[in-house]
Amino acid sequence: YIIQISLPLNTLGMVFRQSKDAIINAERLFALLDTPPEADEARQLPPLDFKRGEVRFESVDFSYEPGRQILWNVDFRIPPGATVAVVGGSGSGKSTLARLLFRFYEPDTGRITIDDQDLAGVDQKSLRAHIGMVPQDTALFNETVAYNIAYGRPGASMAEIIEAARAARIHEFINALPAQYDTMVGERGVKLSGGERQRIAIARAILKNPPILIFDEATSALDTMAERAIQTELAQLSRDRTTLIIAHRLSTVVDADEILVLDQGRIVERGTHEALLAGQGMYAQMWNLQLKQSELERTSRQLSRQP
Ligand code: ATP
Repeated sequence: YIIQISLPLNTLGMVFRQSKDAIINAERLFALLDTPPEADEARQLPPLDFKRGEVRFESVDFSYEPGRQILWNVDFRIPPGATVAVVGGSGSGKSTLARLLFRFYEPDTGRITIDDQDLAGVDQKSLRAHIGMVPQDTALFNETVAYNIAYGRPGASMAEIIEAARAARIHEFINALPAQYDTMVGERGVKLSGGERQRIAIARAILKNPPILIFDEATSALDTMAERAIQTELAQLSRDRTTLIIAHRLSTVVDADEILVLDQGRIVERGTHEALLAGQGMYAQMWNLQLKQSELERTSRQLSRQP
């Protein structure tokens, strides 16, 4: 595919120097894109002075491209250790919130802060050192399973890697692979399902042990067992961490301290699960729809099991 971005030439040079066969590994390219712009480095921003992990979005407007605004006056707070979940229709801007908090992009107006420090004013590396990001669709490196998990904390011991994999409920799966933790994954190795890849990302986040967690729930259909397993892991992982969950299944958000309902880039409702249900607004409608869907699925499964 065509990547339409203006990369500083020396960045491309680095890519070629790093890859022996001069084939750009898309992963590596994107990893490099994550590095702060040169202007940023020149500014020598101070590191994030992490205190309690309070996250704030203050009147954030955002557009990827001029003339098409995606977020409008988004304003919310995640108290230290609390969990805020975002729900809303496809394209409403949920994942964009996650990308802004991880500072893939910056707001057009308004600001995002952690412990009262504007993200635009802190060193990107130190910011990301405090955030665990479990994206919706985790791309893995063409490396071993162990490497992919240890990416969360380079230098981790094998025992620590296995412990993280156990906590993410992926250890047994890995043990059944041809070369266990040394099995190559990705294009040139074993292909993993979306759910398996997300669990590797969870193991990565567990190993990193960050005080702030962003979890972008996979949209891909998971079977009920896998879904439950991921939810148990998520509950464990988000305990005592400031957590932003982008949720696609409402069952994920029931226990959140606050739920934000996003509609076309605006927060249209907010509150706890009970309060939102009682409000009989958009959230209640979404909830009833999902209940009906899962009842239908259950009935059709039962019917298909009957002789
Ligand atoms: P879904 O539930 O389908 O994942 P979402 O609510 O997470 O959707 P976003 O991914 O935040 O939605 O996208 C919000 C809007 O921004 C969409 O209209 C999308 O087309 C647009 N968008 C997302 N990424 C980009 C990008 N890199 N460049 C331009 N527009 C983008």
